[in-house]
Amino acid sequence: MNKTIDIQAAVAIAAAEALAAKTEGTFGVGGVLLDGAGNVLQSMHNKVVQGGLVADPTAHGERQLVDWYFAQVSAGAALPPPQELTIVTSLDPCCMCTGAILAAGFHVVVAAPDGNAGINYDNHASFTALPAPLRAQAASRFCYPAVRGATPYARAASGARPKSFFIGKSINEATQALCTLVFESMASQVMQLLHDGDAGPLCDPASLPHDHALVRALRQRYPDALTYRCAPHVPDAGLAPFLRAAMEQDRRNGGAGEAAALLDSFGNLLLCLPGQQSQSLIRTPFMECTRQYAQLRHALMMGKDSAQQETIKRYLGHPKHGTFVLSGGLDGSAASFMTLGAYGSTMEGALPENNPAQFQYVRPGMAQDALLALCQALPPLYSKLIKIEPRQVADAALIAALA
Ligand SMILES: [Zn+2]
Repeated sequence: MNKTIDIQAAVAIAAAEALAAKTEGTFGVGGVLLDGAGNVLQSMHNKVVQGGLVADPTAHGERQLVDWYFAQVSAGAALPPPQELTIVTSLDPCCMCTGAILAAGFHVVVAAPDGNAGINYDNHASFTALPAPLRAQAASRFCYPAVRGATPYARAASGARPKSFFIGKSINEATQALCTLVFESMASQVMQLLHDGDAGPLCDPASLPHDHALVRALRQRYPDALTYRCAPHVPDAGLAPFLRAAMEQDRRNGGAGEAAALLDSFGNLLLCLPGQQSQSLIRTPFMECTRQYAQLRHALMMGKDSAQQETIKRYLGHPKHGTFVLSGGLDGSAASFMTLGAYGSTMEGALPENNPAQFQYVRPGMAQDALLALCQALPPLYSKLIKIEPRQVADAALIAALA
């Protein structure tokens, strides 16, 4: 097992992972998980894009390291508790990864800043993007080491103190520059892939024959797909039985009894899923739902020519044209913050003007004005570009059905 007791050595591993990610055509970000003595437990990099197509908008390096840890623990590995572990990442964690890290309890050492989506986007290490109760947690766990030098990459240390096993406590300027430049070299290209420009008029998958390959693939992920339909973007009480079934399954899977559904732009139910929190506490219903849909599209499009890919994109449109419906609203917890961030990572660009009600919940988790204030305080990607604005479903009968 590799051991690293200098922050510089750990950041160099993260930077090498970031380069590997860039080489694969995805966001150039990587990270490494260290135990309380500096032993390298695992290193990983971004896997959002695979084979030139979006495979999983949630496959950021840090999020994967958190899931890797819990998958190991649930398989019986004797690993130290998260509080003793440190993720060293080449880029400031986005809101999804920050929520995942805080929910799990890891410490973080951050190399390059991210003024667009990073939790420390304003470089103040005050974490005002987080709900107030989580700010102190971030301040005690997120470490921004000093970068010595005279170029714009240099900075003073801020945030939490690094864990005591680190002897060297700063990052070399060239390594910091590498982390920044590798990320910047891919960022807009991958964001464009994720945002998925307009595929032309969308087609109704419910018009396809039942034995069509696309319908079969959809029903393999979710057997009840296309069996419920509402007015576009207006889920009604007919969705309740599907949500309730997934909520019950979520409880059996170790979750709090929540579910997340995805409707397409025609109002067709595509997915309604529980979480998998006995596998990993951050595998919440929304994380499963957005990932399953992206993986379905990726699996169908891989190896197809561009005309076939366009057809698939028209029948299974980008989720920005549809509606995510959460059984329970966002509540200011770290896991909720992860959900807001993962929604942002799914969109990665402005929402269609004709679909402002893209993100809905049935039961409120917090007051709507407090939720909107939280969304407005998010880093620029989420608050200025996507303009995340979750709202309660309009149908009173659906709200009553889950009350
Ligand atoms: Zn992230």
